[in-house]
Amino acid sequence: MREIIYLDNNATTRVAPEVRDAMLPYLGELYGNPSSAHTFGREMRRSIEKAREQVAELLGAGETSEIVFTSCGSESDNWAIRGVLELQPEKRHLVTTRVEHEAVRNLCESLERGGYEVTWLDVDREGLLDLEDLRAALRPDTAVVSVMLANNETGVLFPVEEIGEIVRAHSEAVFHVDGVQAVGKIPINLRSTHVDLFALSGHKFHAPKGVGALYVRGGLALAPYLIGGGQERGRRAGTESVPYIVALGEAAELARNFDGHEGIRHLRDRLEYTIFASIPTARLNGTLHRERRLPNTSNISFEHVEGESILAHLDEAGILVSTGSACNAQSHVSSAVLRAMDVPYTLAQGSIRFSLGRYNTEGEIDFLLARLPGIINQLAEMSPVGNR
Ligand code: PLP
Repeated sequence: MREIIYLDNNATTRVAPEVRDAMLPYLGELYGNPSSAHTFGREMRRSIEKAREQVAELLGAGETSEIVFTSCGSESDNWAIRGVLELQPEKRHLVTTRVEHEAVRNLCESLERGGYEVTWLDVDREGLLDLEDLRAALRPDTAVVSVMLANNETGVLFPVEEIGEIVRAHSEAVFHVDGVQAVGKIPINLRSTHVDLFALSGHKFHAPKGVGALYVRGGLALAPYLIGGGQERGRRAGTESVPYIVALGEAAELARNFDGHEGIRHLRDRLEYTIFASIPTARLNGTLHRERRLPNTSNISFEHVEGESILAHLDEAGILVSTGSACNAQSHVSSAVLRAMDVPYTLAQGSIRFSLGRYNTEGEIDFLLARLPGIINQLAEMSPVGNR
């Protein structure tokens, strides 16, 4: 099979061999139900609790019991927001941003249609928030503030420590953070923040698809989303998916011990600098402050060229990237994130997200950099406005 160069790690990641090895016995001889009182059940329960400790360590949670397993990042986000609203029916206001992932954005839009009031915080051209806007948005009836830590399309990081301090000082709102894109890419230490709820998803950091978690700060009241048996201490019903939970724990441990972040940053920076030096129509989408961006992500627009055409040509060369968010790949409207950043249409349509991961090599980046300028030139010549 042809070598594939995978530069779409924000969409999903490859299951790490260590993670696969850890979960495999649970698809074979280790099949008990963790709620069973017998030997098999007890062994499953121990495995789940070990995974909970591994995830708690990765997030810097104060207590292991603050971690609740779910099926994905979207479930965690939905549960966090709805779980708060259900217990405070008199509070009808939420605050979020215009650049959230659909898991939060579409939920908030649906709540708006159902009578809630949502304040949508704007971002500037670099994708950054004005924290004065946040302070001004907080009200006595604000139930939830929901903000992402890392943007899936641009990698821009929001200062959640500072945001948490503002939320705590100026309101009684619960503070939810969508941490799905950040986990495994930057250090997280929730214990030292005012974050109340924090969503993560296993497939973004080398666990399989189908498992996630929600951090629920000790003592925070949150209504369950799935109602049924008493699993997860009554917080999330349904027999626990032991193989996937074990996998999530192992992936968390791998992420905690990973020391290659600087290497990934170096590859990403070289990719970015070389593209800007060799392709004059290339523009960065996201902040120029590199410390305010994930170390693995570059979102770059190529003016007057269609992103989908670039993606197809790279795909033919064995290089896999994304145009904005993977969830948007089927639709032709430009990304809501780039629109919120006021990126002009001619640039937004030509945006490509390169997202690197632990398995990428210098040689792969060289291969991309050798081919990309030719592809962009060729497409620009075909474009009615590109060859002026
Ligand atoms: N939040 C962010 C920032 C994401 O990037 C994603 C997935 O791309 C999600 C939430 C949803 O996660 P999942 O695919 O596990 O439902």
